[in-house]
Parts: sequence; structure tokens; C-alpha cells
Amino acid sequence: MNKIPLHQIHLIGNEQHYINQTLQSGLISGDGLFTKQCQEYFEKKYHFKKCLLTSSCTDALEMAALLINIQSEDEVIIPSFTFPSTANAFLLQGAKIIFADSNSNHPNIDVVEIEKLITKKTKAIIVVHYAGVACDMDSIMALASKYNLFVVEDAAQCIDSFYKDKPLGSLGHLATFSFHATKNITCGEGGMLIINDEKLIHRAEIIRDKGTSKAQFIRGEIDKYEWVDIGSSFLMSEISAAFLMAQLESMNEIQALRKEKWNYYFRQLNTLSEKGYFKLPFVPAFANGHNAHIFYLECKNEKERNALIGFLKQHHIQAAFHYQPLHLSSFYLKNNQKENLLNAEKFASTIIRLPLFTNIKTEEIDFVISKINDFFRAV
Ligand SMILES: *Cc1c(COP(=O)(O)O)cnc(C)c1O
Repeated sequence: MNKIPLHQIHLIGNEQHYINQTLQSGLISGDGLFTKQCQEYFEKKYHFKKCLLTSSCTDALEMAALLINIQSEDEVIIPSFTFPSTANAFLLQGAKIIFADSNSNHPNIDVVEIEKLITKKTKAIIVVHYAGVACDMDSIMALASKYNLFVVEDAAQCIDSFYKDKPLGSLGHLATFSFHATKNITCGEGGMLIINDEKLIHRAEIIRDKGTSKAQFIRGEIDKYEWVDIGSSFLMSEISAAFLMAQLESMNEIQALRKEKWNYYFRQLNTLSEKGYFKLPFVPAFANGHNAHIFYLECKNEKERNALIGFLKQHHIQAAFHYQPLHLSSFYLKNNQKENLLNAEKFASTIIRLPLFTNIKTEEIDFVISKINDFFRAV
């Protein structure tokens, strides 16, 4: 058996054809036809109010921080179990980052913890739907309206994922997607800002395009464009948007394949899980419509998890742990007291992610599962 990687990209349709089309048109900078098509695809399919493609999810998070006017002294509540970008975007604007713990049965942010952390200085709650599995959004939105806070969904992993019957990305005031090569739908590097709060749309267009009114100019609403606000260059190149459009056209096929593979892992590993060797991923009923972004197991402890990663590696299977909690990072601890967020720490030390990608073969999954069986038979 050849090496089985954790991720692998899959060209599924018109990627090369659309890129050639863009190259032939000569219009390869941002905000061209493919960008429009991609944005409209999301606005139509998921009823997002306004979508703007960006060069990454990290960029979209930075736009979100600018849009909700984060100032120094503002407090922003963020799960510790996440990627650094979630916190960096707000830190760059001078926010004080307040880390919240995960649930005991799932890496997502614990709503009970959020309320304990809210103060007069709190400006926003940032939620991360880990592995495309929704956070408890009704409770989070209720807290936000009780305390008058913004909610930003870091939905980097959540394309075509649902909370009850609502698409992730449609629930917060703002939300961000990633099209990085490791995500379900990709264009290499890329992202999108979703603006559900209509009041923020106008300024979002300006901030995204170097603080200018160019978007209005292009629509013919004004006769010259100029510098009107702060901003940066957050646009996605048309070459990437062309690639992305091809992937979006294949969305149903990609998602069906991933879900089939996720469910196969879940069924095949159930026996070992029932014997108590590890836990299968917990999915709350409200998150049943998840997008099969990550398949992970929760091992009993760090030692066994690391041994399993090592054992699979010997058999040329790439498996991985996940986030090192941000509250324990050397960067954060330089200026902050050490605190205990026990659930986040538990997931950091026990999660193992298994190879999952659109075109992984059933034989490959069977091989991974047989090796996991071998490992636990020997324990
Ligand atoms: C992938 C990811 C990001 C970063 O996305 P980029 O598009 O690479 O900037 C941010 N947050 C989470 C939760 C992610 O999974």
C-alpha cells in the first residue's frame, strides 16, 4: 500500500478549463466574473446576505475585526481550542483575548463558560465550529442579544454544514470560510467573509479594497473613486476564483463522497469504541447536518494517542493530533498568567485525526482501520 496522507487535493471538474478561460481573458486581478459567480453561488444557495471572496479565512477574520470596530481595551471571547488566526485577527486591533474552554464531550466552545466571562468590556464572541460540527448557536445568539455583543463565526471548516436546518455562516453577524488546500472545497489559499448584518455591508466593500469606494464606482453609483476609510488588500485573484468556481460546481459530489467516507470510518470503528479503546466523535443532534470535514478519535490519554500516531506512521499512514490550546502557547504566556482550561487541554492531548479526503479509497480506509485494530490488539 502506498503512503496514505492526511489530506490530498482532488481536481474534480473544470478547474483547468476555467483557469485557462481567465488567462485568455487577461483579467486576472480581483473582483472579476468568477469572483462574482462564486459570491452569487453562496448568496443564492445558502441565503447569506452578502459574500465577499478574500485571499484567506485569516484575512476575512481581520476584516471582521475592523468591521466591528475593535479598539484596544475591548474584550473578545474566543475558544482556546482553535487555530491562531481566530485570535490574531482581534489581537492585531488591540483587543484583549479572553479564552473560553471547550465542552467536555466536544471541542466546541462551552456556552456556560462564555456567560461567566462576559464583562462590561466584552465586545464580541467568536465561535469556531470544529470539524464542521455546529456550536450551540441558539444559546450563543441569545447571550449575544442579552448582552448586546457581536457574534463572528469562524466557519473556516464549515462549508455546506448545518445547525438544525440553517447553514453555518448564516447565524452570526459575520462569518468566515476558508478555501485552504486542507478544507473540503479549495482553491489553494482563499477565504470568504459573509456579512449577515446589513449595516456592515457597505463598509466591508471599502475595507476589502484598500479603503476605497471602488466597488461603488464599478457599479456606476459614483463617477470617481477615492480613499474613504481604513482598509487593506483582501481580494482574491481571479485565477483562484476560477479554480474555486469549478470546485463549487462539484460541491454535491465532493460532499457526498466525504460523508460516505466519514460514516464508513464511524461504522467500522464502532466495535473497538464499544470495547472502550477510544471514543468516536460526538455529534449533537442539532449538528447532524455536518460536512464530514475531519474524522478524529478521542484516545484515553496522550501517551496512547502519540503511540498510535507513531504506529500508523510506521505503516505509512499519516495521522495527526490537532490544536495546541492557545492559552498554553509560549506567545500568549509571555504576557499572560497561566490558566487551566481542562477540556481544551484534554482534546489537545487525546485527539487523533485520521486520513480523510474526497478521493480516499475504501481499501485505504480499510487498511487504516486494520492497523488501528492491530495497535489495540497489542495494547
Ligand atoms: C483553516 C482555518 C483557519 C485559517 O484559514 P486560512 O484560509 O488558511 O487563513 C482559521 N480558523 C480555522 C478554525 C481553520 O480551520
